[in-house]
Amino acid sequence: MKIQEIECAAAMNHISSRFLPYSWDLNPYRGCSHGCRYCFALYSHSYMGDGNGDFYHDLYVKTNIAERLERALAKRSWTGEPINLGGITDCYQPAEARFQLMPDILRLLIKYRNPCILSTKSDLILRDFDLIAQLASVAAVNIAATITCADERIREKLEPGGVPSARRFEILQAFSETRACTGVHLMPIIPYLTDSRANLSAICQGAHLIRADYLLPGLLNLRGKTRAVFFDFLRRDFPQCEPPLRKLLDSKKAKNRYRATLFGWLRTEAASQGVSLDHLSPFLRLHPAEEQLSLF
Ligand code: SF4
Repeated sequence: MKIQEIECAAAMNHISSRFLPYSWDLNPYRGCSHGCRYCFALYSHSYMGDGNGDFYHDLYVKTNIAERLERALAKRSWTGEPINLGGITDCYQPAEARFQLMPDILRLLIKYRNPCILSTKSDLILRDFDLIAQLASVAAVNIAATITCADERIREKLEPGGVPSARRFEILQAFSETRACTGVHLMPIIPYLTDSRANLSAICQGAHLIRADYLLPGLLNLRGKTRAVFFDFLRRDFPQCEPPLRKLLDSKKAKNRYRATLFGWLRTEAASQGVSLDHLSPFLRLHPAEEQLSLF
């Protein structure tokens, strides 16, 4: 792992999507050593250094991020909008144990009573449990864990740096005792690898057992560099999945049919297990927005 400390000009990036309950993204790190084979954020390294860095092994650490965040939150023009922590890279990846950027960020959010959304694959988040619980008592907080795979043999290959899926459920269970809302991000679902009814049903059941506020499913989306990296992985570790997946992705009609069948089944399965697929309402109940958003 090559680590470079940098100073950022601004703590947050503005993003706009009518499908998201936030417009601001904050990423203390660029690059992520969790090493997920499907990582959609590989493109983001093109903007760093000479643009040829390795997303998984060249890490940039924004050491002044808390100071920049305070500048932004203290502005009279700041209206206290929700901030998505780690929309590009995981805030609780291993380097956070050493750099400890998150506690200062959380203290600022508490100070300014600013809502946030945070998703992780690491139990390092539990180090900051008390701060997050305190924040959830003064502002809307959504804690999510990405959980894609009940079979640990596949999960270890797919997300080598994340903690086991069972541990991610435990993380959410811990936060369900706070005032934060909690969600299972079942994404990406990978056709022919993690899309078995048994796997999806086990994750729905896990969400039900820990009383997650919602489950958010999403289908594999291979963009830019991610496509080549993912297919290299598949060819090496799960070669039987490569031909049918390529065939599926190459046909828009087949992909649409696959998506409709999968999501139809998931809706029925989630309903039968008492799990909500509405990922917006739990957070909007805590942090009412002027306009109700809907994905479907
Ligand atoms: S945790 Fe997220 S950012 Fe990190 S490698 Fe995995 S998908 Fe990419």
